Amino acid sequence: MCILVDKVRKGLAAIKRISGPTWGATLEKRHQLYHGKLLAQIVYACAAWFLHDPFNDPCHEKIMFGISPRALSLLESLQIEMLLVISRAWKQTPVTLIEKEIHVLPILLKLHSVAMNHRCQKYDSKEYELIKFDTQHKHPFTQMGLLVDQHVRHIREVRRLHHDDEAELEDLWQKPAKRKVWVKDFTYKKAFEEAKKRFDLWARAQAAKPDGLTKILNPAYRTGFGDHCFSLYFGLAAAQQTMLLGLRTGNIGINTNPVLRRATQSSDMSCPRCGDPLHTIKHLMFQCPETIRHLPSLIDAASHSDFDRFMTEDTDLISSYAIAYFGLDQFDSVKDQARYQFPRRRTVIRTKGNADYKK
Ligand SMILES: [Zn+2]
Repeated sequence: MCILVDKVRKGLAAIKRISGPTWGATLEKRHQLYHGKLLAQIVYACAAWFLHDPFNDPCHEKIMFGISPRALSLLESLQIEMLLVISRAWKQTPVTLIEKEIHVLPILLKLHSVAMNHRCQKYDSKEYELIKFDTQHKHPFTQMGLLVDQHVRHIREVRRLHHDDEAELEDLWQKPAKRKVWVKDFTYKKAFEEAKKRFDLWARAQAAKPDGLTKILNPAYRTGFGDHCFSLYFGLAAAQQTMLLGLRTGNIGINTNPVLRRATQSSDMSCPRCGDPLHTIKHLMFQCPETIRHLPSLIDAASHSDFDRFMTEDTDLISSYAIAYFGLDQFDSVKDQARYQFPRRRTVIRTKGNADYKK
């Protein structure tokens, strides 16, 4: 595990050299590096070592001799390290929120999905027979076999809905190409549905916390898991993507953000530019005298003044506007660039995202 962590950290250092919060590789490129390089290193051969059932289904046999709780927590910490570099979100942005915004599966679900994908495809093979043990369910291989049995049973139950004839189903199951598609589809859907369910539960739990009502006003808390959130960032410059993530999660340099107040050890929530009691995103957008002289240009470019629509449709306009006029220190080096100034038109035409899963 230590070798794995070292390898991933080297990869992260390389990504840091080619990108920063306001420059370099875009979020799409960094997302590709996460999947193609970092995650590929972690999931490599995971069918051999990742024995853990993340679903906690009471109907399932409990895994007794799987991967240790310490290794699981190490993997989850590594996911946080990776996602902070990939997304360029502020520290203390909840990892669940980042995973949802950039459409990444929780690491344990991903590992389970890849491991089960491999095992289910090898099920019934001669190699699989070799690793079967029967020591009263105590050997890890026996536990792994039980898990695969459950999965294969579920896949066949799902397929039976499409194939009434049991003999035909068996015949198709024996075809490696067909089996591969069925298994891959099932394992991904299962992981996706679990990630979706977990995000909804997590978002509801946030609302019940003492500062929950303020938190859930941020757009990122109000949209469910799916690739429709990630598509909001497509086509934007790296600085715009960092700004948009901050605007949607609320974790950005405004005085009402408790993360900033903790870091600066200040209790002041007022606007440093006009003294308004609450330095919020909506204040900067619609009320602050320093910004609102540019507001007609923003409304003119978007043809509306709806906050939610800016956060879900006109992300190109709102992120440029925020970089140029919100006066946030993090964007000082790019705020004067011509591409972010108004009056201007949309440069990225956005169609509505698809809330369903995609592979
Ligand atoms: Zn103000």
